[in-house]
Amino acid sequence: MPEGHVIHRLARTLNADFRSGPLAVSSPQGRFASEAVLVDGSSLTLAEAFGKHLFIHFDAADPRHVIYIHLGLIGSLRFEPAADVWGQIRLRLDNGTTAANLRGPQFCTLITEEDYQAKVAKVGQDPLRTDADPDSLWDRVHASRRSIGAQLMDQGLFAGVGNIYRAEALFRQELSPFIPGTQLDRAEFDAVWEDLVELMDYGVQHGRIDTVRPAHTPEAMGREPRKDDHGGEVYVYRRAGQPCHVCGTEIQEKVMQGRNLFWCPTCQG
Ligand SMILES: [Zn+2]
Repeated sequence: MPEGHVIHRLARTLNADFRSGPLAVSSPQGRFASEAVLVDGSSLTLAEAFGKHLFIHFDAADPRHVIYIHLGLIGSLRFEPAADVWGQIRLRLDNGTTAANLRGPQFCTLITEEDYQAKVAKVGQDPLRTDADPDSLWDRVHASRRSIGAQLMDQGLFAGVGNIYRAEALFRQELSPFIPGTQLDRAEFDAVWEDLVELMDYGVQHGRIDTVRPAHTPEAMGREPRKDDHGGEVYVYRRAGQPCHVCGTEIQEKVMQGRNLFWCPTCQG
């Protein structure tokens, strides 16, 4: 499942390359055909991400149409030459030279502005959004006995944060994933939030997740770069059994909220 920075990158590309005129909107595969017709020929006014949710606004009708997309586990939205049509394309936005092709999403629906407002209201605070409200998030996190590790995976609290950012932000702030929200103090919460903002913003800029500080890069430590499908240099994610880059302790692994959690019991003791 992509983390939030991937969805923000998609929104950024849609805003940059698909707002200069009317778009040909279609569903070559057919499952979104009756909805695509309603938007076909209209202009994209704004694409925006809230956590892992992508909303694409169009100027066509009144009330305005919004396409809502959630990629889920296997979905993809790719920017491909307009002449290149392959595979099961649920939604296709064609600007004449480039097409945004959506395949295998968990959700792709046409909704109204009202539906959009209702969905956005349920999404948590997204570190990548300038309108995020960490004060209200702190109140909820601190009121709960659930561990900070579990709360970080709750999309209704920390929107867009996935398994990698959860593990890495807690490591960098030397916080145990098992601390209950009620025992976290405001400075610790702020440090995690600000770190998520910084790490995820880097993810949007570079299209990959790197979390190690300058002292712990492969070059600085004289070690081999990490080899992993997810790419990027990290402290603990998928490093169970390997030595911590900071203290040498074996990285631990445990299932929490249905996903594997990684941490250093010494640095995060
Ligand atoms: Zn350590």
